[in-house]
Amino acid sequence: MAWFLNHYECDRCGYGWTDEWSCMCDDDCPRCGARHMSPSDSDDLTKIIEPRESAFVVLCSPETAEHDPDYRELGTF
Ligand SMILES: [Zn+2]
Repeated sequence: MAWFLNHYECDRCGYGWTDEWSCMCDDDCPRCGARHMSPSDSDDLTKIIEPRESAFVVLCSPETAEHDPDYRELGTF
């Protein structure tokens, strides 16, 4: 399952927000409640590299993840 950080901007009130989803799906404006805003931009978070104490850890969201990224460590370098 891919994992996305979607960026939204409300057509009605101009409010901007972000949300994480397993797809590029529509969201409702948390301020004025306008329905079905499409993401204006989207970051693919399926694979991320996270700095740890003395190394970098590569995390990948597996196909089985549905409601959260359920990251697995692929490797440390
Ligand atoms: Zn709004």
